[in-house]
Amino acid sequence: MKTISLNCPNCGANYDPANQNCAYCGSYIIISNKEEENYTPDVLSSLENVQESKPIYIQGVCMQANEIPIRNGTLGKYKNALLNDVGRMLLTSKRLIFNQNNKIFKQSDEITLEFLLSDINSIRPAHRVTMRKIYFDIVTQKGEKYSFNAPTHKSQQVWIEKITAAIQEVRS
Ligand SMILES: [Zn+2]
Repeated sequence: MKTISLNCPNCGANYDPANQNCAYCGSYIIISNKEEENYTPDVLSSLENVQESKPIYIQGVCMQANEIPIRNGTLGKYKNALLNDVGRMLLTSKRLIFNQNNKIFKQSDEITLEFLLSDINSIRPAHRVTMRKIYFDIVTQKGEKYSFNAPTHKSQQVWIEKITAAIQEVRS
């Protein structure tokens, strides 16, 4: 039988995934291994007895003040015609963060890619569509382009929809 061993993203102590917070430092930890998941607006208020002073980690990413998670899921980041870097994307009310290799308990300095929503110019479906590879492109205000491969057309649509809505919310 395989035992799951996880470490707290804040203090590194062993952490029991059945708990909502780290027994050592008190950080709140919310993770999911679902292929994709949309958070309800009250995801943070669902945490019991939240102490304001303790950090809250969603998929290993520490939330900033007034930052709310919106969606997370598995994606590939386009590397070349043959290869994607597999990882996990987290969309919040402030940021879009891609962690490579599905390592959800990374320290913040190991985050592969992080965009402020205010730094994203546009997101659009990409025409580089091959068998089972459905892409969307994120273009930054500086004109840099990043391509991501969604598992399904539906997933691609939802990512585009959710990220677009979050960017509009930040701009309004
Ligand atoms: Zn801890």
